[in-house]
Amino acid sequence: MYKNILVPIAIGHEPNTATALDVARTLLGDGGKITALSVIEAIPSYIRSYLPEGQEEKSYRDVRDALDKELAGTEGVIPVVLTGHPGREILDYAQKHEVDCIVIASHRPGFQDYFLGSTAAWVVRHTPCAVHVVR
Ligand code: ADP
Repeated sequence: MYKNILVPIAIGHEPNTATALDVARTLLGDGGKITALSVIEAIPSYIRSYLPEGQEEKSYRDVRDALDKELAGTEGVIPVVLTGHPGREILDYAQKHEVDCIVIASHRPGFQDYFLGSTAAWVVRHTPCAVHVVR
């Protein structure tokens, strides 16, 4: 059905990740691809100068390792790690790479009282492509 699906993954949301990837696989047409994107929240520049040298590179490696672990056992999912505002980076990536569907969990586990989490709401409101919200 869809050719290019993006699954944003917040590291530490493990129960939702497996479900979101299953949904993405179900929605994927023949020859399509799935990308898993984790965004590291950008550190404001006034704080960055107080960080030990190499801290940002270490955060990148840690998130990349955690993403690889979450994807272990799932074949053919392309891992991507970016830094910035999660909602904006997800939209930007989707537009630049001609994503035709985003599969996103509605909120963090334990926050079921909210209709949509902040990142999920941002993506649903701003993205021009289809969005499948996993509840
Ligand atoms: P909450 O506001 O309750 O934390 P979110 O809307 O942030 O809920 O999280 C819902 C979903 O949004 C996550 O399961 C994930 O798909 C996506 N998401 C949130 N933060 C990130 C992030 N930093 N990188 C990638 N995806 C994210």
